[in-house]
Amino acid sequence: MEERHELLRGLPKVDEVLLDERLFLFASTPRDIIVESVREVIDTFRQEILSGERTCQVNNEEVFDKLSKILKERARMNLRRVLNATGVVLHTNLGRSRLSRQAYNAICEIADSYSTLEYDLKLGERGSRHDIISGIIKKVTGAQAAIAVNNNAAATMIVLAALARGKEVVISRGELVEVGGAFRIPDVMSESGAILKEVGATNKTRTSDYIAAYDPEKTAIFLKVHTSNYRIVGFTEDVSLNEMVELGKKYSVPVVYDMGNGLISDLSRYGLHEPTVSEALKAGADIVLFSGDKLLGGPQAGVIIGKKKYIDIIKKHPLARAFRVDKLTLAALEATFGSYIDGNNAIKDIPTLRMICESVQSLKLRAGKLKEIFEEYCPGFNYEIEECIDQVGGGSAPTDDLKGYGVSITGGGLSAQKLERRLRKAETPLIVRINHDRVLVNVRTLSDDEFLLAAQAVKSAQEGEENA
Ligand SMILES: *Cc1c(COP(=O)(O)O)cnc(C)c1O
Repeated sequence: MEERHELLRGLPKVDEVLLDERLFLFASTPRDIIVESVREVIDTFRQEILSGERTCQVNNEEVFDKLSKILKERARMNLRRVLNATGVVLHTNLGRSRLSRQAYNAICEIADSYSTLEYDLKLGERGSRHDIISGIIKKVTGAQAAIAVNNNAAATMIVLAALARGKEVVISRGELVEVGGAFRIPDVMSESGAILKEVGATNKTRTSDYIAAYDPEKTAIFLKVHTSNYRIVGFTEDVSLNEMVELGKKYSVPVVYDMGNGLISDLSRYGLHEPTVSEALKAGADIVLFSGDKLLGGPQAGVIIGKKKYIDIIKKHPLARAFRVDKLTLAALEATFGSYIDGNNAIKDIPTLRMICESVQSLKLRAGKLKEIFEEYCPGFNYEIEECIDQVGGGSAPTDDLKGYGVSITGGGLSAQKLERRLRKAETPLIVRINHDRVLVNVRTLSDDEFLLAAQAVKSAQEGEENA
């Protein structure tokens, strides 16, 4: 009893702790929060003493350590940076595309200043935010007109609402796609006020199906949707975009192509087999839609390109206001398209393309580098360079597996599950996959300048820290 009194009396006082010079580290934290946290820490120690769990003096160091942990946690944003070591390039849960340096700089420039968002510098009067990027999108894609909206789901919605409200949209049963997060083409269709006219069967649709469905009074659009996240294989038949365009011309019905991924130029020599935007326009589609943050490698957005007469109708639709993009998105989108003006720059500048196109040799080399850093920085685990299968992800190229390399981590007295959990709780969380009961750190989605942060996460896992 006597001893407990002694320990309680020895507890640092709130005022004492508040005088600790190291609190300057938390200069931006409101005073009230610091005081409250100090009380909380001291109280935790008090409880430990009272319960008999604690039998020795509490020193200032311990108090400060606990305090700084609590304060860091409180200051932590909910939207946090993580390290993607999954090898899935367009990881939807981790924010899809990383932006290029150019896009990043453009955002920074615009974020804390006024800008020409809706201001025409030449005329000194109101301008249109649509004009900011329509020029560069037209230049890169060769389209007649362009507009950007919030995302590709919004693009689909506004196109259908503006061009097919109360009318029929003919689409193959094999293309009634669901994209992640319960975005289903049939649901979007009914929300937009358009009437779904499904044709063909899941595995087979023929030109004659579209012809049979055509009604001069009712048909507003022939819609083709790229099956971005699945493939129908085996006994199949579908109508190519070229054939649909022919039909569209014959019946004067616009052909709309939702291609999802937004790949600008062909990457088949890198093992990626996806349709490109220029192919779609060359085939003669009247309107083409795609995401900004999939294979284009830019910010979240939906890009609508095609014939001017249709884009003009879309621009005037009330949803254009509801779906319009923010200035930061416009800044990033303009810069992203900027990298495509010279095709060679795109693969160099845009992380999504760079990661997809990285050679197996380079990946192996980088895995070796990462292994060395791990071994030096946190011995105690076993590290092995391993071959692995990476993915484009984001509902793109579901059948194109990319051969990759990673570093597996075993040992250290931790199960793969426990290690994975601790890595996720590091100061900068390292998100990994477990493969054959081993934690695997894939290097494709990890840049060189993140290797040290990854090693720090491994070190903190080793030390048993679970920060959050
Ligand atoms: C991804 C995708 C969408 C949805 O795009 P978001 O930008 O995520 O809204 C729509 N259609 C297709 C074919 C897609 O692949």
